[in-house]
Order: sequence, then structure tokens, then C-alpha cells
Amino acid sequence: MSSKDWIEKDYYATLGVQKSASSDEIKKAYRKLARESHPDHNPGDPKAEERFKAVSEAYAVLGDDAKRREYDEMRSLFGSGAFRRGARGAGQPGGGVPFDVSDLFGGAAGGDARFGGGGFTDLFSSIFAGGAGGPARPRGPVRGRDVETEVVLDFDDAVRGVTLPLALRAPGVCDTCHGDGAKPGTRPKACPVCHGAGVTTRNQGSFSFSEPCHTCQGVGTVVEEKCPECLGTGGVTKTRTLNVRFPAGVADGQRIRLAGRGEPGERGGPAGDLFVQVKVRPDELFGRSGDDLTLTVPITFAEAVLGTDLRVPTLDGAVTLRVPPGTPSGRVLRARGKGVQRRDGRAGDLLVTLDVLVPAAVSDEARAALESFAAQTPPAAREHLDARLRRVG
Ligand SMILES: [Zn+2]
Ligand SMILES: [Zn+2]
Repeated sequence: MSSKDWIEKDYYATLGVQKSASSDEIKKAYRKLARESHPDHNPGDPKAEERFKAVSEAYAVLGDDAKRREYDEMRSLFGSGAFRRGARGAGQPGGGVPFDVSDLFGGAAGGDARFGGGGFTDLFSSIFAGGAGGPARPRGPVRGRDVETEVVLDFDDAVRGVTLPLALRAPGVCDTCHGDGAKPGTRPKACPVCHGAGVTTRNQGSFSFSEPCHTCQGVGTVVEEKCPECLGTGGVTKTRTLNVRFPAGVADGQRIRLAGRGEPGERGGPAGDLFVQVKVRPDELFGRSGDDLTLTVPITFAEAVLGTDLRVPTLDGAVTLRVPPGTPSGRVLRARGKGVQRRDGRAGDLLVTLDVLVPAAVSDEARAALESFAAQTPPAAREHLDARLRRVG
């Protein structure tokens, strides 16, 4: 989560609470929304997943008193989205004096004590330096940001491969007002307080401080009639849907990179990349080990000794496996080609682990049969223990 997100995202709206909400109200709202949108309750619904992520992100800030205070302060200084427009305006001819970070924080003031000399200044510096629209930014092409998202796949889909629509939310420029925040047909006017500079200067002793103009929040212009679409911020959250192909055999924890599917670049720059973190729901029956599927099957002692034919399910059918007489517990039988089928023709196997059951209780008849079995069976070879046992008495 970057500091730019803090300016662009309204976490209160995400959680559906008032800005004055108590931490209890915030916690309640979060729990309710997280429950409703949890991926486990909405299998295969990428919208619910995005919503779950947004809610979690919002709560990570608003649920932490210190972070919430910083967030509130930052938003009240710069206003939602206003900062972006301000930075653009300030760099244009006649757009006023460009911001100088050192004027605002540090510089003449020698570190701004109001913000506890630390985190806050760093946050602002990172915004200005972060390529989010600082005035010092070069005017050349800029590569779009990389986008991270997460998807939860069903076990079968991960094994067979699947194409899923992913809904990605990203901040974008409002199409209705083209980002200036003014109602169509009207234009933003020069700010009457700073006359378009975006900063005001205050003298204190021999020092002079520059700070963002409070009237226009540093933009240099004021919007008299707000754009109904973005409510004057110039920015909107845009959702785009991408169809993403997950190849057969994609594994839990894998991170897939889709080159050029991130946010678009600016001024002819290349688009960023999309990274998809894959989670795979476990199957109730099968496990995975690379391209092999795994399955544990219980057999009786008699089956292990006498041998048997074992009918076991595969992902899309069943196979019969021969358990030869005298098979030990833990033996792994292999059904070739019944694992993950890759597109290139490679295929994994189904590995069946045999688990010889020991009954906790037996009938009288079975006991008699076992005693007779024991009488006709040589004892287990344990001579190799004898020397050591003699030594300990
Ligand atoms: Zn707009
Ligand atoms: Zn102003």
C-alpha cells in the first residue's frame, strides 16, 4: 500500500462508515463486510475477492488508531485526488510556482515538529519523489505501475487449467470531466486566495513558510460546480476485466506474471505488469506433489498379505491397481499418466500410498484365526537388537 493510495482511496466509504465513526463501529463494519465478501463464501467470484481485499486494506489503516490519524491528516491537507491535479497544474506555464518539498517540510523550518519529526514527512517525501505526479518528474514516457492481485482456484481447475475473468480496480482519470473535476460545460477558476499558485506564504520572524493553499488544497484552481461523476476529485476508480488463462498444473503459492497487463503507461510509456498470486483450494481426496496427484488408501492386513485388485478414483474416472501378495504398509503404487496433464503432452502420475489398517478390536472368530495364524508364522526377526539389549540388562 503506497502513500498515493491514501490520497486516492476513501477507506471510510469502502467500509461504509462516517468519518467520525468510533473504532468499535469501524471494527463492526469491517467484520460484517469481510464475512460477506470472504472468498470462502463466494467461490469463483473475483468481484467478491476484490471487495474482500479492499475492505481488508481499508481496515488495516482505519483499524489502527495511529495510521488512521495520519491518513485523516493527509487527506484533509490534500483532499481526495486534488493533489494529482495540483501537481499537474503547478508544472504548467502560468500554472503558478512549482512546489518545493523542502519549502514545505524541513528546509527553513528545520524539520516540521508538528508531525512528530518522522513518519509524516517521510510519507510526503515519498509521494513527491514517487513519480505519482511530483513537479520534478521528467516529462518523458512513464511505465505504468505493476498491479498485484490474488486468485483462489478450485483444485480441479488448477490441475486442468482454467480461464477466469479477473476484475481489477485501479484509479483512473474521470471521463466526464477529463480530470479537472468541473461539471461539463464549466471550467475550474483560479483560486481567489493564492491566485493560482497553489501555495501560500506565511512570515514568522525571519523565516518564511510556504504551505499548500487551504482554499484550493494546493491545486491553484477551485471548482465552482463539481463534476457529478467524480464529485470534483477528477479521479474515479475504474474496474477493468481481464480474462486470464491459468495453465494446467498451476500450483498453490505460484505467482504468475502477465507482461504488459498492469496499468497503462503515460505519454507513450509501456504498460506495467500484472502479477497474480495463486491460491489453490485443497481437494477432499487428492493431494498434489508437482505434477503428481497423491492419494492414500487403507487396505486390510489380509489384503496386504494375500494381494488384491484395488479400484481407485482418478480426477476424471477410475483405475484398477494390482496390490501384489506380500505388499508392505506404506508401499506406493503408481498409475501412470493419471496426474496433471500438461498441454505440451507431459503428464504426472497418480501415486497411491497403501495404509495397512490394524483393527482396534476383533471378533472372537477373528482372534482365534489370528492366534492360529501366529502359531504357524515364524517370529519377526529381531536378532539385531539382542546385543544391545544384553548390554542394558
Ligand atoms: Zn469528473
Ligand atoms: Zn489556492
